Amino acid sequence: TALRFDILTIFPEFFSSVLCYGVVARALQTGIATVHTTDLRDFTTDRHRTVDDRPFGGGEGMVLKPEPIFAAADALGITPKPNRDTKRETVIMLTPQGRPFTQAVARTLALTERVVLLCGRYEGVDQRVIDHLCDRQLSIGDYVLSGGELAAAAVVDATVRLLPGVLGNADSSHYESFGLSADGAAADADTPLAVSPAAGLLDYPHYTRPAEFRGWAIPDVLAGGNHTEIRRWRRERALETTLQNRPDLLREEDLTREDRKILGK
Ligand code: SAM
Repeated sequence: TALRFDILTIFPEFFSSVLCYGVVARALQTGIATVHTTDLRDFTTDRHRTVDDRPFGGGEGMVLKPEPIFAAADALGITPKPNRDTKRETVIMLTPQGRPFTQAVARTLALTERVVLLCGRYEGVDQRVIDHLCDRQLSIGDYVLSGGELAAAAVVDATVRLLPGVLGNADSSHYESFGLSADGAAADADTPLAVSPAAGLLDYPHYTRPAEFRGWAIPDVLAGGNHTEIRRWRRERALETTLQNRPDLLREEDLTREDRKILGK
């Protein structure tokens, strides 16, 4: 069955202009996943279709009211929180206060049947929405966006491309940053070109033709056809990049003796 996303937002049009490219568009066209947007203003009861109000206790900005959000959730048949099986159906608030959205989280979402994404605006949503409707809060990074829509689109994109049949190459040895292949299996050490990281290393550099461009040649090893050497070179570069850009990803226990030599440890 297709993975269904429900996006609750005051800007539903946003998604039709974002989720319409490349592998994500194809997955939605072929029905591997579906995206339903819900305009929170359709669940207001006043003439002005008001979704926000001033914060109790004073202070800057506005807060999204709880009523339209709960009314939308009821209309969409979202299971009330106490009865919800979160392995199948999960309600997520996008917020900078959330836990980091990572590849590991995308992999767990790809295993569910329904993901509800709630997009905040202004100062955010009434806390009762977070407490009594949402299962978790996710952040896409340590910066503040003006709304949850970009964050929700990032979650949909990263999750959809993990669904079986979405990427052309469903080969389990496919390697990319954060160390696991598209189908969630660890990259296989015995596959000739896999880098086989146990840890979530970053990806190695890629080159395509021409072999020389403006005097810049590709590394000799990649043209040589020696798969053992290529694998070693890629592992070295992946370790190097990870050490330089994301040392927090390098877990001591996942390093092989050869890795330690490369890293000079
Ligand atoms: N008052 C909030 C704070 O200081 O944390 C910021 C609210 S922000 C201006 C408005 C909305 O954008 C949030 O409710 C959330 O839905 C979304 N948003 C902003 N940054 C985000 C991030 N890094 N990850 C996920 N959602 C984000």
